[in-house]
Amino acid sequence: MINFLRGLPKVELHAHLNGSLSIESIKELAEKVYGQQSEEFAEMCERFISFEKGANLNDCFQKFAFVHELTSTPQGLDYATQLAIRDFARDNVMYLELRTTPKSNGNMTRRAYLETVISAIKRGTKQHEINVKLLPSINRSEPVAVAEETVALATEIAQNEPDIVVGIDFSGNPNQGKFSEFAPVLETARKHGFKLAIHCAEIDNPVEIREMLKFGMSRCGHGTYLGNSGFAHMKQYNIPIECCLTSNVKSGTVSSFGSHHLKQLLLADAPKVLCTDDCGVFDTTLSDEFLLATETFGLTQSQCIDLIIEAVQHSFATPEEKLKMKMQVYAYTRRQ
Ligand SMILES: [Zn+2]
Repeated sequence: MINFLRGLPKVELHAHLNGSLSIESIKELAEKVYGQQSEEFAEMCERFISFEKGANLNDCFQKFAFVHELTSTPQGLDYATQLAIRDFARDNVMYLELRTTPKSNGNMTRRAYLETVISAIKRGTKQHEINVKLLPSINRSEPVAVAEETVALATEIAQNEPDIVVGIDFSGNPNQGKFSEFAPVLETARKHGFKLAIHCAEIDNPVEIREMLKFGMSRCGHGTYLGNSGFAHMKQYNIPIECCLTSNVKSGTVSSFGSHHLKQLLLADAPKVLCTDDCGVFDTTLSDEFLLATETFGLTQSQCIDLIIEAVQHSFATPEEKLKMKMQVYAYTRRQ
């Protein structure tokens, strides 16, 4: 099964750029950013050794902090984007939607951040067999004014890069920020033709869940606390739930793989896609997530193929790109 799943051309629709780098790739990034002979690199290697010994969630999130440090310059960000694309391509991901919050600091403006990622995507897709799109993220713990700037920049940049910048992600700490305050800027994004991928029902907040369902979205991130009526709503409106098994269990929003809501979605034949969220932080790959689903819920090879086709349909790709992806999947299955 694992060989079948590794070889299967896959579709990744929920991947945060900074969380997607494996420990090996973070090391590679550190080497490129600091130089192999530098003191900073030696110090970082020391810190890595402690990660490898015991990787609890705290360690996982510290990995995140490393990456933020390493991607705080245009060059580091460029490398990181290329490494993430390479890693997904190595796992035979044929189509990837990367999300990232444009950050401004002393080295970069938010515009430069987005331009750097886009230029790395262009080079990455030339080097590897993979199609990559970008969803600039709105971080709900930042002020609404930042979200407005992000959407304005995305709108402007998408005029030149309509094939790359295709949607907006709404994410960040679900305990911070109010969705209702971000709804107007998300509505502006939708009016400009962006698809919306919204982290929704990550925590049990019935008022916000109702607001989000009323507002609508193209895809729902996690949907852990939607409940049966929420799942029925998603099915009625054909909104897929991006299921991230390892992420949900390791971060504690779902108690075990067996109790993951993917089970209910499968039983209800509601739309769903399997994704990694932060495959570096949670030390997984999309192939591993599929394997977990086969082991936990007894999915067959043909059900895995159906899930990929479902992901193709719910991707923000063009109709031509979707057709090409389906052909790739069918060509692979014929060879098996
Ligand atoms: Zn996420």
